[in-house]
Amino acid sequence: MTEAIRIDPETGRKIFNTRAAKASEKIDGKGYSVVTDQKLRELPKAPEGATFNAVEQAKYREFKEARRGAADYMAMEGDFRKYLDDVYSEPPIPREALTDECEILVCGAGFGGLLLWQKLSEAGFTDVRFCEKGGDVGGTWYWNRYPGIACDVESYSYLPLLDETGYIPSMKFASGFEILEHCQRIATKWGFYDHCLFHTTVEDTTWDEESGRWIVETDRGDKMRARFVILANGILTTPKLARIPGMEKFQGKSFHTSRWDYNIDLTGKTVGIIGTGATAIQAIPELAKVVGQLYVFQRTPSSIDVRDQRETTGDEREKWAMEPGWAQARRGRFARISEVRAAVLANDDYLAGKVKDFKERKQYDRVLTPEERMQKQLDSSFRLMEQVRARVDAIVKDPKTAAALKPYYPYGCKRPTFHDDYLPTFNLPHVHLVDTAPRGVAEINERGVVHEGVEYPLDVLIYATGFQWMGTSTFQKIKGRAGRSLTEKWNSEGTRTFLGLHTQGFPNLFIVTGPQGGGGSFNFTDVIYAHADYLIWMMKTMRDRGENVVDVRKEPEDKYAEHCAEVDIATAPLRDCISYYNGEGKAAPGSLAYYGGRQWDKFRMEAQTSLAPYVFGEEPN
Ligand code: NAP
Repeated sequence: MTEAIRIDPETGRKIFNTRAAKASEKIDGKGYSVVTDQKLRELPKAPEGATFNAVEQAKYREFKEARRGAADYMAMEGDFRKYLDDVYSEPPIPREALTDECEILVCGAGFGGLLLWQKLSEAGFTDVRFCEKGGDVGGTWYWNRYPGIACDVESYSYLPLLDETGYIPSMKFASGFEILEHCQRIATKWGFYDHCLFHTTVEDTTWDEESGRWIVETDRGDKMRARFVILANGILTTPKLARIPGMEKFQGKSFHTSRWDYNIDLTGKTVGIIGTGATAIQAIPELAKVVGQLYVFQRTPSSIDVRDQRETTGDEREKWAMEPGWAQARRGRFARISEVRAAVLANDDYLAGKVKDFKERKQYDRVLTPEERMQKQLDSSFRLMEQVRARVDAIVKDPKTAAALKPYYPYGCKRPTFHDDYLPTFNLPHVHLVDTAPRGVAEINERGVVHEGVEYPLDVLIYATGFQWMGTSTFQKIKGRAGRSLTEKWNSEGTRTFLGLHTQGFPNLFIVTGPQGGGGSFNFTDVIYAHADYLIWMMKTMRDRGENVVDVRKEPEDKYAEHCAEVDIATAPLRDCISYYNGEGKAAPGSLAYYGGRQWDKFRMEAQTSLAPYVFGEEPN
């Protein structure tokens, strides 16, 4: 046994000590600052009576079609593998490979893994082991440490286990660094570190019918056995690069936003950033504060809604300290808001429980048809986008830059973003927007980016080009009953799950916040709570019944997958653009995100009451 692994004298089980030290104290930062200019913290008024008419629809369609097929991404292989290196931790702690067995093996030590451990351990399931690719806990918040990083869902509803830890976030939208610290606080309080193998990526996961166990192999040479495997390793975990001819030639420094290289001093440098999604929106204002020249290469503008960042008040601190369960109650109220614009709509009086609703409800004298309801939703999305566009004109002085920054698609079709400092950044003389619409950056050479015959020489090039959908090796190499892989099943039948958590033929395997995962809220934390509670119920049910294996039947799985496709199709006009939400316009309806809202709860409750979808013990038919 190395120091990394020892035996608990009380339980005889292994205790791990594999958490890696932080690589450097330079890795430090803050999120959004508070913007005091009130004009920057509000949207211009909505245009009276504006509707999403044929002319506007045509404009949106043209905007979308011009981009169809433009998205061309690649995995970080070969020369580009270096972009995946863990720059945040010291090298992995050496340890021997494990060939033993545990009851539950969980992939991932982000919010999902941490919450699962808190709930599993409190329910008496302690033979639990975690495998985590990073050197410490945090998941998304471990990997993403770019300047300006913060959550976009208010932190009082987003950070898990606030009631239980007594922690109160410092800002309404806590910085990623504060969120990472909170993850470490949770891990320390519940003894998580003893159970986690860090710098360990699950590669092959194979069901062994005879023993009723999963055999889990990792990149550290482990070959462990587990009765249950829970995938809590996130869906957008593996970073991706835009495939741009010549990118291998670039001689300057370069990195992806999820591996921010704090060893490169950006002060006074000429820096380029490709991409203007949620990450870039937060990083660009901070970059502009230090670099000499900043070139922003944009293909599609994000919708930039107001942020309204503020500090947690003294009154709130006092009140919450005296109010057990305040965070859970607030999260419950927050979850009632189904609109994507919740961050702004969710006024504090409602969330604090002072008023009953967050908006005035319109009364109609008759029930609207589905078509009328859809048109109303499209009209209100259009009016909101008009406000978003008017905000660009009100803030950005150069008309050409302002025109390029205006998005033409329904609100929420691409990931909405929130910032009060992003648009003013484009008024700074050293910040330049390079509009590469609609096809994107087409060439990179030794010196920098070339677009439409103009060369932009750069010292540093930053890829803010996002993440692959379920791109981890963990998802690619799962083999269930009869040696059939999950990839093969979903490629041939389409994504098929029950509740997003089970998929037939893969007994005792549970996917947390996966495709079709639902939970009825855009607050990711709500979804992991719902999934963790469900899994605790499942584990307890099996324990009480003396069952060792659970699978699901084909019929309820088909019905659920059909439901996912139906709601996706029914609400598709609200998301009519090219986005990673719809596989850049290529995904089959219902195969990725879940749009069925609280119907997920209905399916779940019916299943928990009747147990009809489940087959315990033997193979389902
Ligand atoms: P992303 O949303 O996928 O954005 C990638 C960007 O790269 C897009 O703007 C894309 O343009 C652009 N791009 C790709 N190829 C290009 C090319 N050849 N030329 C020019 N531009 C190109 O990635 P992300 O910003 O990292 O965000 C990913 C997700 O992480 C978010 O949507 C969100 O869910 C999460 N996130 C959350 C937070 C938060 O909660 N605060 C912060 C950051 C990220 P197109 O739009 O045209 O494809």
